[in-house]
Amino acid sequence: MSSTRSRQSSIAEPLSEGAAPWRRLPVWLLPIVLALTGAGPSRSPSPPTIGLIVQTDSRGELRPCHCPGSPSGGLSRRSGVFKQLRVGREPVLVLDGGDFLPGPADSLPGSLDAVLLEAMELMDYDAICPGERDLFRGPTALAGIAARLPLVCANLTIDGAQPVTVPALRRFERGGRSIVLTGVVDPLLYYRWPGAFEGSAARLALVDPMEALGALADSLEAADLSVVLAHASLDRILEMAPGRPEVDVWIQGHEPGLSETPGRVGKAYVIEPGPRSRQIAHFSFDPEAPEKSRLQVLKLARSRRSDSRLDRLIEGYETGPAGTRPR
Ligand SMILES: [Zn+2]
Repeated sequence: MSSTRSRQSSIAEPLSEGAAPWRRLPVWLLPIVLALTGAGPSRSPSPPTIGLIVQTDSRGELRPCHCPGSPSGGLSRRSGVFKQLRVGREPVLVLDGGDFLPGPADSLPGSLDAVLLEAMELMDYDAICPGERDLFRGPTALAGIAARLPLVCANLTIDGAQPVTVPALRRFERGGRSIVLTGVVDPLLYYRWPGAFEGSAARLALVDPMEALGALADSLEAADLSVVLAHASLDRILEMAPGRPEVDVWIQGHEPGLSETPGRVGKAYVIEPGPRSRQIAHFSFDPEAPEKSRLQVLKLARSRRSDSRLDRLIEGYETGPAGTRPR
């Protein structure tokens, strides 16, 4: 985290018709008059926070679950909430913590991948850390995914090198503040899969997450907000966090529990966004006063918002000739 935080920006209010006399002045004279008098359009500051909008562990679920009495989740509802939050005044980043594709034990149809990727492209994520379920697809499929989605992972190598299309970190500017975001996958989650060392999968490797994060320490330290999408268990994150004090926010991607109060490790926050994308975590981080940061959990069981583009896409998939209705 940076010791010198940049100042917050402001957003000009629109001018009203037929308003103040200074509007009748020649255009070239206006900045001078405004500077001398202090008059002019009123300005209101943008919120001091940066919003991290996170869900994870969706495992290819297109529709809301058939959870008794409380159908929840689903791509269309998620996208509807993302759209709503994006038009708010708080600058936001929309993130996914991984396992967005079904794994071998999830028994969903393979033809699902194409519609999922198309849907996630429409949802316009800012960054996605792959999970082990996504990496099981192998290097060739991963390259296709990375061409369409903004993947990020610091400890992934293909043929011994960081893939160009899956950078170790992504940089953003929101509300005048600098954000550096990276991701790591716990190698143990991947290597317990028997296929990890066979065929083309052997080209893909996961190195030590702490070493990978150490190589990024200067970038993480210099940013106003540094975030790690950690595809790992909560215990593993709690082991790693004390060794990387320059990280402001850790987000659990792998099978997270749900906590409505963010955890703390030193000054860092640890966010558990909840299992199977039934909720969306909205963490508002205040770079000027991190202790004022707040977490809000948006429950998709209650959401009435949807995205008609995704409704049409999913309906076409389910009713089309190649469609196989997922569970
Ligand atoms: Zn996982």
